Amino acid sequence: MIIRFQNKLHAERKKEIKILLAKLLKTAAISSCGSHLIIENKNKKDLSGALAKIEAIEGIDFVKLSNEETYPLINKRKASPLKIKNKIFSAKNFLLIAGPCAIEDKSSYLETIKNLEKAGADILRAPLFKPRMSPHSFQGIEKAGLEIIIEAKKKTALPLITEITDPRQMNALYSHVDIFQIGARNMRNYELLKELGAAKRPILLKRAAGASLKEWLLAAEYILNRGNDKIILCERGDYSPSNTDGGINFNMALRAIDISRLPLIIDISHSTTSRKFILPLAKAAAIIGINGLMVEASVNPQTASVDGKHTLTVSGFKKLAADIKKLRQ
Ligand code: PEP
Ligand code: MN
Repeated sequence: MIIRFQNKLHAERKKEIKILLAKLLKTAAISSCGSHLIIENKNKKDLSGALAKIEAIEGIDFVKLSNEETYPLINKRKASPLKIKNKIFSAKNFLLIAGPCAIEDKSSYLETIKNLEKAGADILRAPLFKPRMSPHSFQGIEKAGLEIIIEAKKKTALPLITEITDPRQMNALYSHVDIFQIGARNMRNYELLKELGAAKRPILLKRAAGASLKEWLLAAEYILNRGNDKIILCERGDYSPSNTDGGINFNMALRAIDISRLPLIIDISHSTTSRKFILPLAKAAAIIGINGLMVEASVNPQTASVDGKHTLTVSGFKKLAADIKKLRQ
């Protein structure tokens, strides 16, 4: 931890601050460096209890924590491949998560997943709950879709991913899906993060639009804090009021991998929101060193109740999968 004194702080006050800090962080080694203090703190529990008090000390300009202090659990965890059924997130593999924005009816969903599996999907989207900006927009078919998921599981060995928007959905979804998705709107839903931290299922954690790297990684830290280390980060881009010129933060995605060593994918659909830009941006994403992509694709984008405008057709997805395979050879 680095602490900076306010400008022109009296030497007497600096001394008092050092004494206060020594009391708050009993096992810390404190050394002075010009207008800064460098604190090597051994006891992490001391730090979490003392931080607010340190920041409130009169005469301190700012307190800066190291990554190890900010994300102690992320920092401690060992990077390891994440196996989900027959699919493995690892440095070697590049996985494609594909499927419709929402499951709408049984026949089109089963047709969609059969075709996407053939076209190269590794994991299938199976969304039942759709958090929407307007209460008047289609909200997903919710629990009524569970029987479609049960049917789908008889037809494919691929893992299924679904978004959970409320801890009360957990019981119904738990035995039917292989990965829980935390959507952009719920990255800051701390009760949901805690609940999923206690679950024995992999979690795909999207970055909320506009969220900083720190907020995103601390959301992952919440999940780790309850014992679940099966986390996949998902960059889904920012959005602007017009929702057309937001964009993928490649820089933040790479920084997130660098600090966390967690698998990370990019949601190329919600970050792009226009079908014609998906293929070029997917190809760009495929070569920067991430672990996969999420792509919305279905047999009937033109009649979809949500996000049809950027949902790829099966042949569009097939081309994307083939182009990416070629790029990564
Ligand atoms: C989704 O993936 O279905 C979704 C709603 O995305 P986001 O949370 O990124 O908006
Ligand atoms: Mn969508």
